[in-house]
Amino acid sequence: MMAALSVESVDAGYGDFQALFGVSLDVEEGWTVAIIGANGAGKSTLLRAVMGQVQIGRGTIRYRGDDLGPLATHARVARGLALVPEGRRLFPSLSVSENLRIGAHVGREGQWTIERVVELFPLLARLLSRPADVLSGGEKQAVAIGRALMSNPDVLLLDEVSLGLAPIVVRDLYAAIPGIKAAGTTVVIVEQDVTLALEIADHVYCMLEGRVSLSGTPATLSHAAVTDAYFGVPA
Ligand code: ATP
Repeated sequence: MMAALSVESVDAGYGDFQALFGVSLDVEEGWTVAIIGANGAGKSTLLRAVMGQVQIGRGTIRYRGDDLGPLATHARVARGLALVPEGRRLFPSLSVSENLRIGAHVGREGQWTIERVVELFPLLARLLSRPADVLSGGEKQAVAIGRALMSNPDVLLLDEVSLGLAPIVVRDLYAAIPGIKAAGTTVVIVEQDVTLALEIADHVYCMLEGRVSLSGTPATLSHAAVTDAYFGVPA
């Protein structure tokens, strides 16, 4: 089977600073993949590289077999990739429904509409006309995920959904992931909370200092192996 997304021996960084060293990973169609790792491990850089927001040096990133190399970010979104960035990046003065509609501007056909996003996150129903900047952190994150879904992605990349949110809020947001998966969307989620990642994922990659330090299904990874790969010291 051809992977939906395939990262092959990718180096990437910022100017002279190298953040990724020969990173390889495969995301099969329909999977939920978690990328775990400590602060600065390179997880966000990897997602940005997939979206064409960070230039890669060596290596190749393929989407359904095609090299994404020459494509700008908007062209990648048009192909079916979408990113919920770290920090959400909503338009603060625009309303929730305006923020959601911005996600649809690429014009990809599909099932995601404002109504479907509200079904997924019922808490948004009463907030549609509110400006985004008055929302709580969890509400903002729901809008950010909804905005990405409005582009009808085949592969949704989520960067640290849980950042700065209370555990109960995070649980509510994670509860939406099976619904996203059931819609046929492949999900790649960057997460620092290992327990959460292991619960939700079909496959887990751990990153350490810009490299993949461990890969496997949650059932096959021992706690000790994950701790070792996460912190880089024997458990
Ligand atoms: P975090 O959980 O902190 O976001 P991460 O695993 O996502 O961690 P990255 O954000 O990808 O890690 O950062 C990898 C390395 O690249 C870090 O050393 C970081 O300081 C550096 N870095 C990230 N963004 C930039 C940037 N815009 N310019 C320069 N260096 C950067």
